[in-house]
Amino acid sequence: MEIFHISAECYPVAKVGGLADVVGALPKYLNKLGHTAKVVVPGYDNKFTQENEFDIVHKGLLKLGWFQFSYTILKEKTNKLGFDLYLIAIPELFDRPNVYSYEDDTERFTAFQIAFLNWLTETNQQLDVIHCHDHHTGLIPFMVQFCYNYPHFKNTPTVLTIHNGQYQGWFGFDKIHYLPDFDRGRSGFLEWGGVINPLASAVKCAWKVTTVSPSYLDEISNEANGLENLLRFERSKLVGILNGIDTDVWNTQTDEMLHANYTLKGFKKGKAANKAFLCEQFNLDPKLPLFTFIGRLVGEKGADLLPQICSVALNEFYQKLNILILGSGDTNLERGLQNLQNFYHGNFNTYIGYNEKLAHIIYAGADFLLMPSRVEPCGLNQMYALRYGTIPIVRRTGGLKDTVYDFGDGGFGICHDKASVFDVTHSMYRGIQLYADTKTFDAIIKTTMQIDHSWDKVAEEYSAVYQSLIN
Ligand code: ADP
Repeated sequence: MEIFHISAECYPVAKVGGLADVVGALPKYLNKLGHTAKVVVPGYDNKFTQENEFDIVHKGLLKLGWFQFSYTILKEKTNKLGFDLYLIAIPELFDRPNVYSYEDDTERFTAFQIAFLNWLTETNQQLDVIHCHDHHTGLIPFMVQFCYNYPHFKNTPTVLTIHNGQYQGWFGFDKIHYLPDFDRGRSGFLEWGGVINPLASAVKCAWKVTTVSPSYLDEISNEANGLENLLRFERSKLVGILNGIDTDVWNTQTDEMLHANYTLKGFKKGKAANKAFLCEQFNLDPKLPLFTFIGRLVGEKGADLLPQICSVALNEFYQKLNILILGSGDTNLERGLQNLQNFYHGNFNTYIGYNEKLAHIIYAGADFLLMPSRVEPCGLNQMYALRYGTIPIVRRTGGLKDTVYDFGDGGFGICHDKASVFDVTHSMYRGIQLYADTKTFDAIIKTTMQIDHSWDKVAEEYSAVYQSLIN
């Protein structure tokens, strides 16, 4: 089966969060099952584009309302990611370093989607499934069905995966002329809440919609930033498939980003070496348990609670723990967390920014990973932590509920129900107690490192979805 994945992110080409990890891994594992999965992302002006070689496979023009852009399809030469990778270069719109947060994101991602369909049409590509990821590619299911330019793909199954339903790509009907000509009687398929809503449109038009965990599927029927009723209405075509992790990348024995590699048997020594490195870099005490947070500093992740969580924990459990935060996002939060460094010198530190290598070392060297998320569609951090022998402390929500079970109930993590300072600090207290009970602590680490969250099984579930559509 030939499957095109189209996405704004793909690790290691361009990454902001978990979307990139999924799109960078799932196609590789689909190929292992005998499919031909290809990935299409915008050609950003970033390190990956500059450091790799590409063949030009097609050039064309696209219309975005009254504007006209030229686009070029570039194919990565060596197939180094384990699948065919195509970049769509539209210089005026994507010749910039970042993935999102430009004023013209609507124009950028609408043009990207049109270029994708123009390219497929102009080169008469044969394919079985178009798999779209999140709202940035959410107009495609509508366009293949209703735009006159793409009759060739009218009967091609489309799949949408919702990685994060909070962001929907809304824009006004004053920009409806950006879309190639279509049957105007169908414009209702674009609308939700009086505006064009690409995510809602994809939910309406895609043949199948997947969410990145079963629990998130249950939750978004009740809370989905305005899409609840639509999702309830379309329930029969929704399915929750828990993400996997790329065990080729996330492997304690081979991960080149780690300070020290380690095996299951040698985890104590290996983790201690990574922890010692972190403690030296960040002026922390290696004898104390190390609690960490990695992620976007936004309310969704419960990051607004972090300053208070940290000060309560560092006061209440004085000199009994270290905390290290890696993240970026809300500037007030960034500043608030940095300020705490002045008060808890020697037990608290932050790295404000994005740092892939540091994230890997933290997963390996930390003792506990905090995830007080309010919304967590799947969450990959807890799975990386588990694999690297770091115990996740999570709020029972979305994918966290599906992957982490409390050690008090025979599981291997620490769970709480509320995104509140009290619940999180209470869990941290349990963590400190657990850390002191070395025998139980080590046994839990051994369990976590052996949990299988690889993509092999998950890719089969996606394969079954595609097959059901083709049938
Ligand atoms: P989301 O996609 O909602 O941000 P996920 O848990 O699905 O959350 O994925 C987050 C991914 O981004 C993980 O691979 C995590 O390690 C990585 N990540 C997040 N913030 C940072 C950061 N500041 N530095 C390095 N990696 C980060």
